[in-house]
Amino acid sequence: MNVPSSTILTVPNWGKDTHPQAVIAWALARYHAPAMTSGFNLNGVVLIDMAVGAGYRGDVLFVDTGYHFRETLDTRDRLVARYPALNFVTISAKRPDDGLFRSNVDLCCALRKILPLQQHLAELQPDAIFSARSREQTQARQELAFLEGSESRVRVNPLIYWSRLRLERYARERGLPVNPLYWDGFLSIGCAPCTRAVRPGEDARSGRWPGQDKNECGLWHDDAV
Ligand code: SF4
Repeated sequence: MNVPSSTILTVPNWGKDTHPQAVIAWALARYHAPAMTSGFNLNGVVLIDMAVGAGYRGDVLFVDTGYHFRETLDTRDRLVARYPALNFVTISAKRPDDGLFRSNVDLCCALRKILPLQQHLAELQPDAIFSARSREQTQARQELAFLEGSESRVRVNPLIYWSRLRLERYARERGLPVNPLYWDGFLSIGCAPCTRAVRPGEDARSGRWPGQDKNECGLWHDDAV
């Protein structure tokens, strides 16, 4: 269905018990050009599997900053092999190793992650973007809604109510290719210089940008995408 950009976003009557796949199926019926971003974390791998089950056959956009763990790139390759119906797209800023993450993480994320994705999306013009974020991941995500944005570009967040344990159970039952670093305590995995394992009692994203007042790259701030 082609929805005029001026249409105000209306949220279906979904709640804690709504299965993520029902949200995905709804979005696939409503939006004609959806896309998905992924860093191939546990949430992302579960979302990919559910989306394929719901009939998604579109792009999975991965931003290669140049600093990813080898295990993350291997996970991407395993997903490419497992889901041939999807179009995995690796986007890269193609920047040399400038060490900017040591002095300015916000600028580094902006140049290596946000800008390349924004440029890609400007060409692709998706009307919906699937995101694998969930409420449990951080304090800042506790109010996350199933749908954000406007009808011109809605962000669809099917997994908001799924806990880490539930995601793990799903991944195990489905035999999904979870990044092996996850099982070593890397509950959220970004670039190698900016990621450490999570300690007991910390939230899932505490290992991102350790020592910095930052736990989001900015992709989802201020409608960056
Ligand atoms: S996570 Fe770190 S290395 Fe990666 S883009 Fe952001 S600041 Fe740079």
